[in-house]
Amino acid sequence: MKKLIEGIKDFRKTKRPGLLEHFDNIALAQKPDAILVACSDSRVAPNLFASTSPGDMFVVRNIGNIIPPYKADMTETSILSVFEFGLTNLPIKDIIICGHSNCGAMHAILNDKIEFEGISKWLASAKDAKSAVTLLPAGSNNEEKANAISKLSILRQIDHLKTYPMIQQRLQQGDLKLHGWYFDIKNADVYTYDFSNQKYTLIE
Ligand SMILES: [Zn+2]
Repeated sequence: MKKLIEGIKDFRKTKRPGLLEHFDNIALAQKPDAILVACSDSRVAPNLFASTSPGDMFVVRNIGNIIPPYKADMTETSILSVFEFGLTNLPIKDIIICGHSNCGAMHAILNDKIEFEGISKWLASAKDAKSAVTLLPAGSNNEEKANAISKLSILRQIDHLKTYPMIQQRLQQGDLKLHGWYFDIKNADVYTYDFSNQKYTLIE
């Protein structure tokens, strides 16, 4: 906590003066054109790696960057409300699912050892991505396996996005695009999924 307070003091002294005009411009309304769904993991730093400014992205973060498939009577309304608000009140043109390397949620799916009821239920929407492991060479280690699950789960979550009627409608209108990003923490590299070539490519 002390580090955070010191950070606020440092921000106030060094960065705030240069940002005051920007904050003044966005104070009354936000106009982000992208929704980012990222993992809660503290190492995933989209503001840093995408060099965004306040006001650029409407962000949802949860364990494993998961989107539960839409159901008419869904009880998990946190994500649903993000789409309801974002797609009706904000100029959203893109939705990005951002997964990452060495994700604890993907390791939990790999090991099939989840001791908490909430996490177990939450990860159910990503569990079938474990099939990615079967495509790896023999002798792959757990890190490689978890990363393969993470990359496949990103695509699964994009499939889940397409189950939301509001998103289906916007896709049919042709004014919404869905993206899969993968953040490699060790190298601070960001990959995007190329749907035409069916592989992740480095954004450089
Ligand atoms: Zn994670």
